[in-house]
Amino acid sequence: MKFPIYLDYASTTPVDQRVYEEMIKYLKYDGIFGNPSSRSHIYGWKAEQAVEKSRKNISNLINSDAREIIFTSGATESNNLAIKGSINFNKTEKLHVISGETEHISVLDTLYNLQENGIELTLLSPNKNGIIHPKRLEEKIKKNTVLVSLMHVNNETGIIQDIESFCKICKSRKILFHVDATQSIGKIPIDVSLIPIDLMSFSSHKIYGPKGVGALFLRRKPPIYFKAQIHGGGQEKNFRSGTLPVHQIVGMGKACAILKDEMNLENKKIKLLRDKFLSGIKEKNNILLNGDPINNIPNILNITFLGIDSKTLIILLKDLAISSGSACSSEKENSSHVLKAMGLNHFLSKSSIRFSIGRFTSKEDISFAINQINNTIKILKENSKY
Ligand code: PMP
Repeated sequence: MKFPIYLDYASTTPVDQRVYEEMIKYLKYDGIFGNPSSRSHIYGWKAEQAVEKSRKNISNLINSDAREIIFTSGATESNNLAIKGSINFNKTEKLHVISGETEHISVLDTLYNLQENGIELTLLSPNKNGIIHPKRLEEKIKKNTVLVSLMHVNNETGIIQDIESFCKICKSRKILFHVDATQSIGKIPIDVSLIPIDLMSFSSHKIYGPKGVGALFLRRKPPIYFKAQIHGGGQEKNFRSGTLPVHQIVGMGKACAILKDEMNLENKKIKLLRDKFLSGIKEKNNILLNGDPINNIPNILNITFLGIDSKTLIILLKDLAISSGSACSSEKENSSHVLKAMGLNHFLSKSSIRFSIGRFTSKEDISFAINQINNTIKILKENSKY
């Protein structure tokens, strides 16, 4: 066992050994280190081949055309690119965008930024389980709605939104539909040949690939009026300039290829661990499970420990690496905007912890975590009596 036990896989994952072994072939002089944009020699050609193989691996996971994958620096950039890039500022009327209150901060902040520049924004609120009913989307669509951006799986609660219904509604009104699939890719099968999503963001470091690389799926047919946000050498068909980080792209490609083969098995294993964890915690403590009992992915659990301050608990649980919510927002937020949108008051929100399980979590890790949590809460409660 490795201490502290890592239960924060929704924040980031370690690089898989097989990914690492693939990546190191693309760094040194005796390996493939060329610039994929170098067209005049074999160093460049080999690097380009590696990039294209990875593009194919990524597209295989979502059943898209490889040409529909644009490499970025991660999901934050993909979300920025999808939203800013797809809004056609040339129109004279005020444009309207719809998103959700529980979106990741990289979507919300991008939208607030656009709002400052005149875009009209509607944020849909979820029900108490975090689910946005498709009817809510339908009700909020206006004549000037040009884009809907909604996430697939929430990073704090693990709930799954009904992107298929959202997509149907958008397509029937000819509105662009963007999905932040950062937490769902490699966990839930997504087939863009069946669901006509226009744009979809994802990241490598949530799926056992390296940090600093991600992708945006950009549908080719029908073509989308789309504008680059980073300008320069015209890489990625002019949609995203900058020299491609080949070793990272290769890592992401390998991570996707592994998941294509192993996703189902991995999910089954994680579900068993999640059930064991939850029943072990539930048995001894007064808890609320934040999220939806049916529509959730097995690797994220958001739990409110009634009457316990989560910050204190996290400090006391020093043998566990856990968090109260999103790492990306923790520098900005005092309490979770996701839990607030689901109707949790400040006290409940401050008593909540996210646990996320992953590829390297063992049964022993889970048993240890259950004991630690139960014992620590028992001591906290006993002390609070005096
Ligand atoms: N969207 C979601 C749902 C996320 O969970 C994250 C990462 N926490 C991001 C976007 C941003 O991803 P990245 O770290 O690759 O920028």
